Amino acid sequence: MAEETIFSKIIRKEIDADVVYQDDLVTAFRDINPRAPVHLLIIPNVLIPTVNDVEAEHELALGRMITVAKKLAKEEGVAEDGYRLIINCNSHGGQEVYHIHLHLLGGKPLGPIHIG
Ligand code: AMP
Repeated sequence: MAEETIFSKIIRKEIDADVVYQDDLVTAFRDINPRAPVHLLIIPNVLIPTVNDVEAEHELALGRMITVAKKLAKEEGVAEDGYRLIINCNSHGGQEVYHIHLHLLGGKPLGPIHIG
């Protein structure tokens, strides 16, 4: 059983976060340390630590993360100009919180993907 992170507490509303969307499968909230004018995190309500832990049974929640990203990008006004979706995995991927999350970044030209 994977260890819970602070994101489980956000899902359960046990700690404050700027939650912009929640349904039966996913929760979305503003990143506490935004790297772009729009920086949201979209997470499954079930704890999946990393992409390496994804199973077929998670496909519905992972798919929902993308449809919610599309909806929120429109609501945040970045859909037309564009945005970037990122999932980091483990240490080389720069993952800090071990509850899988999709970063939605936008609101300015993001440039090439920064590596290293
Ligand atoms: P990653 O490096 O992909 O694991 O990203 C983790 C992200 O979670 C970082 O961008 C953090 O700023 C963000 N983060 C950590 N704690 C919180 C929190 N309590 N509320 C919102 N965002 C958070």
